[in-house]
Amino acid sequence: MHHGPLIAILVAGLCLAFVFGALAQKLRISPLVGYLLAGVAVGPFTPGFVADQGLANELAEIGVILLMFGVGLHFSLKDLLSVRAIALPGALAQISVATLLGLGLGLALGWNWVAGLVFGLALSVASTVVLLRALQERRLVQTEKGKIAVGWLIVEDLAMVLALVLIPAVADALNGARPGAAIPLAGRFELGLWGVLGLTLAKVVAFVAFMLIVGRRVIPWILHWVAHTGSRELFRLAVLALALGVAFMAASLFGVSFALGAFFAGMILNESPLSQRAAEESLPLRDAFAVLFFVSVGMLFDPGILLRAPLPLLATLAIILIGKSLAAWLIVRAFGRSNTVALTISASLAQIGEFSFILAGLGVSLSILPEQGRDLILAGAILSILLNPVLFVLVDRFSGDFGSAPGPEPQTEPEIDIAPTKLDGHMVIVGYGRVGSLVGAGLAAQGETLLVIEEQAEAVAAARADGADLIIGNAADPAVLEAAGLARAKRLFIAIPESFEAGQVCEQARRDNPDLPIVARAHSDAEVAHLTRCGATATIMGEAEIARAMLALCRPDADAAAA
Ligand code: AMP
Repeated sequence: MHHGPLIAILVAGLCLAFVFGALAQKLRISPLVGYLLAGVAVGPFTPGFVADQGLANELAEIGVILLMFGVGLHFSLKDLLSVRAIALPGALAQISVATLLGLGLGLALGWNWVAGLVFGLALSVASTVVLLRALQERRLVQTEKGKIAVGWLIVEDLAMVLALVLIPAVADALNGARPGAAIPLAGRFELGLWGVLGLTLAKVVAFVAFMLIVGRRVIPWILHWVAHTGSRELFRLAVLALALGVAFMAASLFGVSFALGAFFAGMILNESPLSQRAAEESLPLRDAFAVLFFVSVGMLFDPGILLRAPLPLLATLAIILIGKSLAAWLIVRAFGRSNTVALTISASLAQIGEFSFILAGLGVSLSILPEQGRDLILAGAILSILLNPVLFVLVDRFSGDFGSAPGPEPQTEPEIDIAPTKLDGHMVIVGYGRVGSLVGAGLAAQGETLLVIEEQAEAVAAARADGADLIIGNAADPAVLEAAGLARAKRLFIAIPESFEAGQVCEQARRDNPDLPIVARAHSDAEVAHLTRCGATATIMGEAEIARAMLALCRPDADAAAA
């Protein structure tokens, strides 16, 4: 059999990530841990198959692009501007604190101050992928704290873009302008440090302006045009091409990072709800590549560092986990936000990732950072990513317990809320979208008590407005369904479109209450059979009902009534 390194890393990476991820899930830890371990398994520091690190990193980069594109899709310019008052000073202050702490550690380890600064900078910037996965897993992206965290991240990304351009210039100045030592930006010798800084900022501004003026018109136009061709495949391809193309253009023409470019491409699509919806459909690729990101990080981990430099590693971890968190917490609190918001933001940012690797690599290649610095950064990254889910558990435990501000926390945003219901004789509706909300309105008109299980912000808000009791979360999660008091319920309506999840809900509901009438929603005969097997009392196939209603219009009495 002939296969190249790309196929090897794709297959080994994804398969092992799946196996370890599933194991982690079974052990009730975050699947991220499994993905990282899969990376360690295919990495150079463990025996057996070793995947190509360079390829892994490139695939991971695609993951970052698609992820940021997805965030952009849900993030409007308005959102970005609405959090600037806190995100901008917050991120800058946190970067300064983390950099100073890193500098301190570097000096203590006997490095010079430039090495310390590069080390500190690398510790100051959080990983996009880790932060977004953490927020998505907890459905926080659209909440106020989620928006602050994402805005904060954008500022950090921008700062790193500047750092990446400036570091070679500094290295040159330091090393007496060794010719050919550094990489980018022609003519930087004439420009000097401030010139380089100004030029980079000007490029970022030019890119944003270009996207807002040209991109905003051209991108939706392209999508509308492709939609008219009637080819769905072409449409999805157009979306993918736009995401990757804009990211690439941002990087090569404007010197902006891939991630930032993709974010703006997504944000432009966000302007038109139609293209946003369409673009979302074509994002399953994103998840696969995000998994590869974690695999590629795992591959970098050399367990030997735990023995070689345990104390410096502990100090590095303390800076990432405690120093950065504390700084972020203080800043957010100083801006008058509640304890929960401050803790969530601290936890989101208490890790390091892709930018840190890039900075570390650059530092070592310019010989301004000792190799030990890079090893500490890599080990610090993987350990902080591993520990990140633990921090969130701690946040859940401690938020609100101490020093919580009485100030108003916006109530419109869903988080997971699975307090067990006290209702009795209630109607339970799973999913409050197009189907569930109509069922709810009908039942409410009959004077029934409603309990809705929903996971999406807008639908939650609609259910709340209709006066229903709510459980927020994924109904296929046993803990969520358990809270619905099904043993005392009158009837269960499963009004979600995904039949595997609906089947799960059905089976568990049947276990909780063998006599409960369960009505489920299906789209095909196979789904009807599946749901019936899972215990549904009645299954309504949407398409059949649509046909029935269409036919009903053709009856002579219907024509007469219409006339
Ligand atoms: P529609 O297809 O318009 O009826 O919308 C379906 C609704 O069900 C959406 O609002 C989804 O957020 C919601 N939904 C889908 N799956 C689940 C689930 N597993 N748990 C809770 N809500 C869900």
